[in-house]
Amino acid sequence: MQGAKKEMKKIGIKIRNIFPPRAFIIEIGRSSLEQIRKLDFVKDVFTSRIENKEKDLGDVFLFWNNKFPNTERDEKEVKKTEQPFRDDLIIPEMPSEEERKKMEEKYLQRWQKKKKELREEELKKLSPDRKRSLNVKREDIEIYELESFSQAYKAHGADYYDTSLYMAGEIAVGFFFSPGDRGDWKAEDIDTVFAELTNKLNEFIDEEPNANISFVFHKEVDAEGNPFLLPEERSNEFDCSHISSHSNYRTQVCDRNYINDLRNKYNTHWAYMVQVINGDGRANAYLGGPSMRIYRDDLRNGLVIRHETMHIFGAKDQYCPDACESPTDIHGYLKVVNANSRGNNGKGFFNGSGEGLRDIMNGRSNKIGTYSRGQIGWRDSD
Ligand SMILES: [Zn+2]
Repeated sequence: MQGAKKEMKKIGIKIRNIFPPRAFIIEIGRSSLEQIRKLDFVKDVFTSRIENKEKDLGDVFLFWNNKFPNTERDEKEVKKTEQPFRDDLIIPEMPSEEERKKMEEKYLQRWQKKKKELREEELKKLSPDRKRSLNVKREDIEIYELESFSQAYKAHGADYYDTSLYMAGEIAVGFFFSPGDRGDWKAEDIDTVFAELTNKLNEFIDEEPNANISFVFHKEVDAEGNPFLLPEERSNEFDCSHISSHSNYRTQVCDRNYINDLRNKYNTHWAYMVQVINGDGRANAYLGGPSMRIYRDDLRNGLVIRHETMHIFGAKDQYCPDACESPTDIHGYLKVVNANSRGNNGKGFFNGSGEGLRDIMNGRSNKIGTYSRGQIGWRDSD
């Protein structure tokens, strides 16, 4: 997969999404279709609605078909959108410089071990024929797969704590599905919700073409479609069992180890984690990552996952009274004022009542306004 990615980039193909283990969504002109079909690692090319044929490709087919509208809206959800959107933003605990270095070291040790495990897993999945061919044919696609579990930290300035500094480049998103007041998830509902949410995230790609965003969406379910437990519920596996349970800090450490693994596994610049709960509730996210929690009965046609993703990449809220932020405070990687905020402290626009234009950060629209764009690192060129 990493090999195919490299090949396609070399000939100038824009990759929008990677669906492991073997599907890509790409952007090309009609005239290049034949050229793509001829690439030796390409099995099939689709340009319109398709029927699901192979089980391990179910997600990408659902995702793709979601683009061709004939989906019905959940009635409950429509009613919900009439109430103003509210959520919670949590500021993650940041350790001292010294502690930070220690965590960094510790994680790198973890990754060395994890990398070996992943390679062994991948090898096990290959057929005997495939294994034989790998030994003789070095340029084979899967050999890249085995060799490219990356060096940690590909993005400029990124380290163990910086997993979503600004929204640009390759982004891996891990999805967990947890029980809520509607009980456990059914596998088919997971698939539908996953296709919807990932399509909504994909809108970011077109909203700032200069950011060159591509997403790898990773669904945390087993072969039968049953959801895996959260990293904090598997604390031994995620090296966070030493932190007292049910604390915010434990969640952060577990989730951070998880997303660093995810980022390294797919060799992306950034990564974050989405927990989708089967029921109703108030969404929350950590400012600057690592994770968010959203509710199936309050998805608001994609607004919620997009709003929380904005928090993950450094944007602040603009609504009041619950989350009144000063319109003159600066946030995000590019240090941009929150001038659209309704927080009235006598400063900023309109004597402090903020501009209050429709914006994803006040939940009044799906639109990303100027200040919100700046906070996630999108510089307006003017
Ligand atoms: Zn918010």
